Amino acid sequence: MFLKQPDTPNFRSPPKSLALRAHSLLVERVRLVVSTDREARLGLHEFTAAGKTYKFMQVVLGSGAPRRVLLSAGIHGDELAGVEALCEWLESHAYTKFLHRWDITMLPCLNPWGYEHDTRENGDGRDLNREFNSSHPPQEVRFVQSVLQEPFDLSLELHGDEDSAGYYLYETVQPGADIGHRVIEQIHTIMPVNLDATIDGKSANGGVIARPLEPGTHSWWPMARYGFAQGIPCSLTLEAGRSPLQMQVQAHLQAIETALGLCS
Ligand SMILES: [Zn+2]
Repeated sequence: MFLKQPDTPNFRSPPKSLALRAHSLLVERVRLVVSTDREARLGLHEFTAAGKTYKFMQVVLGSGAPRRVLLSAGIHGDELAGVEALCEWLESHAYTKFLHRWDITMLPCLNPWGYEHDTRENGDGRDLNREFNSSHPPQEVRFVQSVLQEPFDLSLELHGDEDSAGYYLYETVQPGADIGHRVIEQIHTIMPVNLDATIDGKSANGGVIARPLEPGTHSWWPMARYGFAQGIPCSLTLEAGRSPLQMQVQAHLQAIETALGLCS
């Protein structure tokens, strides 16, 4: 989604009407689940943003399965549903049924400062999902890039778009793969799908925007473009439309389960 706030490059002040969210509480929430499951491991990677120390979370579930998936959320700090969906998926242990087929890596909150301050950008006013081909990427992006040095078969990135009345997704896949439409088909029962021919200024078909694969067509790279260049054959950037938070969460959970089921 695009900012509703004034379009200043160094937007630092949180909206006064919104209480700060504590990223440390999110870490404790994830730590609690991981402590109860022998299949789960939590890595914490410290960094400092705007004078405060945060810990990136990297959760790894299972080991030795034939395929590897990366689930990520919160690269835009004001898009809560993805973060919440990954936490709920973890807390419900819904992932266990996939562990015979998938090793799962989760990055539940990629922009801790933005999460706490309810902003799309990080503490330096940078949109992290525009920085993956930057010559000096922000530390949050460098962290994701380090994770993407490992091989993955699938990447699911959870976002939200308050400007959209329904769910849609960006598909970055090898030619011939048509996973996006099959994921979207399973969303209809939870929330409307955005069936517009143009979404976010791009051509769409049935709620799916196909990302061009040639690097030259992007002046800036989102995470999915970088992942594709690293060899991930399929990335879906999932955008929950404007709706109550729990509806967005349920739609994201359905998309995760569908994608993992289809690709097993
Ligand atoms: Zn987003």
